[in-house]
Amino acid sequence: MATPHRGILYTLAMQMQSFGAACTVTGSMHLLTLGGRHLLVDCGLFQGGDELERRNRESFPFEPASLDAVLLTHAHLDHVGRLPLLVRLGYRGPVYCTPPTAALAETVLLDSARLQVEGYRQDLRRARRQGREDEVPPPLYDEEDVHRTLALLRPQLEFGETVTVAGVRVTPQRAGHILGSAYLLLEAPEGRLLMSGDLGNRESGLQLDFTPPPAVDAVVIETTYANRTHRGWVETRAEFAQALRDSVRQNGKILIPSFAIERAQTILHTLKEMMDSGEVPRIPVFLDSPMAARATNEYFEYGDELIPPVREALRNGEDPFRPSTLHTVTTSAESQRLNRYDGPAIIMAGNGMMTGGRIQHHLKHHLWKPSTSLIIVSYQSPSSLGGRIVAGQGTVHLMGEDVAVRAQVHTIGGFSAHADQDDLLAFLDTAGKPHVWLVHGEVNVMDAFLPLLAERGLKGDIVPDRSPVDLLGAGFSSGRPPGLVVPPQNGKGQGEGGE
Ligand SMILES: [Zn+2]
Repeated sequence: MATPHRGILYTLAMQMQSFGAACTVTGSMHLLTLGGRHLLVDCGLFQGGDELERRNRESFPFEPASLDAVLLTHAHLDHVGRLPLLVRLGYRGPVYCTPPTAALAETVLLDSARLQVEGYRQDLRRARRQGREDEVPPPLYDEEDVHRTLALLRPQLEFGETVTVAGVRVTPQRAGHILGSAYLLLEAPEGRLLMSGDLGNRESGLQLDFTPPPAVDAVVIETTYANRTHRGWVETRAEFAQALRDSVRQNGKILIPSFAIERAQTILHTLKEMMDSGEVPRIPVFLDSPMAARATNEYFEYGDELIPPVREALRNGEDPFRPSTLHTVTTSAESQRLNRYDGPAIIMAGNGMMTGGRIQHHLKHHLWKPSTSLIIVSYQSPSSLGGRIVAGQGTVHLMGEDVAVRAQVHTIGGFSAHADQDDLLAFLDTAGKPHVWLVHGEVNVMDAFLPLLAERGLKGDIVPDRSPVDLLGAGFSSGRPPGLVVPPQNGKGQGEGGE
């Protein structure tokens, strides 16, 4: 594994090593060597099941203190969640991001630290009873690490304005994915590079579209949905309304697992519109996610980034994220009490892939009842609990027991905050003739995207896990790194959405 050292010049090479989101959709972390400087773009946590999450415990394959700067594209946990670990292990340099990303990162990282510590205490209690407490790994980081990390944030990135970071000119542009999300134009002596971060769905319910990029030499682009086209917004909204009406008739609980940032606000805004217009009955909505409630405050603060009707509502002093029947659940005791609530109600809780959080106890109490509806509005990694339910597993293991899946499961595809195939190709349209490097996608999805790039006369390559590549070099003859195994296409096993 190459270790960066100060003073080594990689002349004319634009080197990148990806230690996350390479041949997978989580744990984004890319180490760039430009002009002899080492810039880390994103430092995300692996999420979506034990196998992936084990990678969070691997040591960094470089010396954290040797980095010149960190750049963040947006505040999702899979893009910022290992930052406190980087700081715990010695990084003391600046972390550049947009102001909303800094605000959301605080909420996201404090929540993550709390979950780390709670999970550790729980594991320790269990291990003590078995006399195996020595085997429990410590939390990855705690609140103190997060506060040290927050002190390093430099919320100086503004869309369209260039700043110089460690000798590299950095221009962030609107990515349209979540509040504050940016893609980055990096200009160094070697050439011009775009780091896409996560790009938005151009038919999003809240975000403005991404800004068309300028011509560059290389693009590192996310490919979460590079093999499919999302259902349009109007259709998605109609499908959601229908699922809700059907579910209300069942007279049971309607569970909507949702990520706290962007998806929760999109769903709340859509519910408000549909209840106000009479498209769906006004039934109680419980937002059982203190983190989503906190994140919503930032949407008021940075409302200018949102689509015109939402922006207007905010300017008029209205609350576009509050259906009239909304109850915000704060304490875990209140959350538990919801299990005894009679009658139909919508319960929104995290996390979106159902791998942890309050949604789990709601699932334990309701998933086995035929009157329950589970409405899935987010991406489900195939190995996550949500992924197993979507794949049709009859029984799932959660909170220490087996629970039968008898609820009606609705998967609503179009709420995705991610670009689909058409969006990605539209993004590349204005970027000139760059070398296109694919990250943040399942291998078979990226593989299916390669021929589309070739049709447009673009050289495309799948970024290998961990191995360095020269972004301006020739790439791989087939577009695939040596030894890469491409699994067969599998249409099942995941809903749409995505973080
Ligand atoms: Zn994201």
